[in-house]
Amino acid sequence: MKDSIKKQLIEILKTQKVIFGDELFEEKYLNRRTRIIKEPGNNPELRKNAELKQNAPDAADEKNDTTAYVYEKIKEEKIHESLFSDSKKDWEISENLNDLYKLICNCQKCALGAMRNKFVFGSGCSNADVMVIGEGPGADEDAQGLPFVGRAGGLLTDILKAINFNRDEVYIANIVKCRPPGNRTPLQQEMDACLPYLKKQIGLIKPKLILCLGLTASQGLLKRKDSLTNMRGKVFEFEKAKVIVTFHPAALLRNPNWKRDCWEDVKKFKKLYNQIVLKNG
Ligand code: SF4
Ligand code: URA
Repeated sequence: MKDSIKKQLIEILKTQKVIFGDELFEEKYLNRRTRIIKEPGNNPELRKNAELKQNAPDAADEKNDTTAYVYEKIKEEKIHESLFSDSKKDWEISENLNDLYKLICNCQKCALGAMRNKFVFGSGCSNADVMVIGEGPGADEDAQGLPFVGRAGGLLTDILKAINFNRDEVYIANIVKCRPPGNRTPLQQEMDACLPYLKKQIGLIKPKLILCLGLTASQGLLKRKDSLTNMRGKVFEFEKAKVIVTFHPAALLRNPNWKRDCWEDVKKFKKLYNQIVLKNG
């Protein structure tokens, strides 16, 4: 079926769903409708209808045929499954980062939406092997609409440089896309509301490795209630990507003693990158 026709059909069916509810598309009804037309079986009533139809098709039969045809198509294309198994929103089926951005940049799903100056989607290479994930925008990021552009961002750039990554060959994003007031940690419900967007980005970018910065990003992405100390030094998986966690650069600015440990983490990250992406080491 042509995509444009399929699209139209889906729109019509969505309206039908609003009017009739899900019942119209339940398997038993789909089967029954097509059976009536196709297999009259021994049911005298249906046989009579079928015979009548053979001899003199009338307007009502034509209507039935059309209905049956539409139902056949619904079944063939499995449209009813995609419509009613938790119908996907437009952003969920977007096929690239630009489309995704356009579809979510006015989001107001949580209270942070009303407080932001700029929505901070993420930046970098759209098919990067490496993703870096922070917590959420700060004041500078909120003003510019870009992740990690403030003081912590400067340190992140240096950390990446130290392991030979340029900022624009990786992809940088955050657990929440709008700035929490006063740079507080995002609330659980804010993270829950925003995380599907990040997951979608990860699904589109398909990185081979992810570096999580700080406890919030690590716990948020990996859904673990562990301490950073426990998670550091281990290799986790998230949707086929290997994940390593380390300190948040803002924490390193407050406590430079942790820089040495961070250096160990990112060296390990680079080694894993060499193994997985460059296939050496
Ligand atoms: Fe939407 Fe995320 Fe911003 Fe909340 S933080 S309004 S979920 S984009
Ligand atoms: N801190 C973060 O976690 N993310 C940013 O984008 C900036 C600072």
